[in-house]
Amino acid sequence: MVVKEWGQPFTLEERPDPQPGPGEALMKVRAAGVGLTLVTMRTGIFGGEAPRIMGHELGGDIVAVGDGVTNIRPGDRCAVYFYLNCGHCRWCHGGRETLCENHGGYVGVHVDGGYADYVVLPAGNFLPIPEGLDYEGAAIAADAVNTNWHCMRERAKISPHDDVLLIGAAGGVGVHGIQVAKAFGARVIAADISDEKLEFAKKWGADEVINVRAVNDIAEAAKNLTDGKGVDAAVDYVGSSETFTAAIEALATAGRAVLIGAKPSSVQIDPLNLLIHEKTITGSRHSTRTELMETMEVMARGTIKSAIGKRVHFTEVETLFDELQAETLLGRGALTYDD
Ligand SMILES: [Zn+2]
Repeated sequence: MVVKEWGQPFTLEERPDPQPGPGEALMKVRAAGVGLTLVTMRTGIFGGEAPRIMGHELGGDIVAVGDGVTNIRPGDRCAVYFYLNCGHCRWCHGGRETLCENHGGYVGVHVDGGYADYVVLPAGNFLPIPEGLDYEGAAIAADAVNTNWHCMRERAKISPHDDVLLIGAAGGVGVHGIQVAKAFGARVIAADISDEKLEFAKKWGADEVINVRAVNDIAEAAKNLTDGKGVDAAVDYVGSSETFTAAIEALATAGRAVLIGAKPSSVQIDPLNLLIHEKTITGSRHSTRTELMETMEVMARGTIKSAIGKRVHFTEVETLFDELQAETLLGRGALTYDD
């Protein structure tokens, strides 16, 4: 499924099977995830050149490797790591590889991804899937879940006595955020835009819910649900000025507001309030390879499950984009492939 020019819909093309060059591997794709990030990417604002085969949340089987590849072999079940990092800068060495100073872009944007039967990538971007986790779970692990694993542990610093507000909790990343925050022991307050979405959030573990369209003020509603204290962490998956402002205003003393989604144009902050209450405002960027491996291991144990709202054949990926744009998809979209 090819995007011929950024901003255009997908078109089905027949191409010869790709072959792995030195240091690369070829994977038969078995499952893929579809989320809102891809809708944004397809506008072209992440850069990269079209025509492009998109798709970065992938699970499949390695079928061939190029010269010099030692980390994987044909027959290995693998997930795909989504960032093209250099592997040798201070951030790559220091365990914060998503901050790579020689960042080469993203699978499915700067190189062809996996909305196709086969995908070729640098061998280091393939990570083995642990036993007990299916291809679809592994695909979703590689963005919708591991992004939360990094966020909750490293940025929001969740611990079991925390109240955590998730804004946009029923979306593809948010619904896994509920599960990850619960796995770290938090009490989860889910905010989203409809009762249907909030029912879905509850089904996946949310303790309390806030219907954003039924309350005047998300921060005030969160305070009401915490006896006036506020939340210890607030994660904003939506990323509008309004939602990130609410995340900051909902914080308790020593609270952490974390931006995951999109691009708030501006927010007002009160520096003295940050100082006096030692609050933190920060962002969270995807996950490292190590965190992806940990995420897959936790999913293999069944602690966190892939929450799929709709599943279609990969040649029908456009229908999932339509639902994502209409904000009607609950959880993650998934793609199936022929054997
Ligand atoms: Zn680097």
